[in-house]
Amino acid sequence: MDDCIFCDILAGQAEASFVAGDERVVAFADILPIGEGHTLVIPRRHAIGLHDLDPEDGAAMFRLGQRIAAAQRRLGLAEGVNLFLADGVVAGQEVFHAHLHVLPRQDGDALTLSVDYAPAPSRDALDTTAARLRDALEHTGG
Ligand SMILES: [Zn+2]
Repeated sequence: MDDCIFCDILAGQAEASFVAGDERVVAFADILPIGEGHTLVIPRRHAIGLHDLDPEDGAAMFRLGQRIAAAQRRLGLAEGVNLFLADGVVAGQEVFHAHLHVLPRQDGDALTLSVDYAPAPSRDALDTTAARLRDALEHTGG
């Protein structure tokens, strides 16, 4: 893929500090870490986001992310971990090659996740939405 920094890294045309990799996925240090050990896991095969990501690559991303999270904890780099994947601009995606952040969390770190919750919906509203999603899943083979 042209103009993809992560494909450049995979091709050896841009530098990265590699952590792990296998036939499907590669992990390397985020260049703007929220804390020491912040790692990205990407598929070797270019995919923009969830819509074109091979589900087996997605599974491999999560599997490696889980192992990296355990390593962060073992090293004392993380008291907790967030796994974060931004799919789409509105979700905060900035590099359009799918990537899973393995975010080592420490008490008082610089990362905040905030939500302005709307009033909780009724059970009827939750049931209606769940039914819509069930229907959509049936029609996509998902
Ligand atoms: Zn790419």
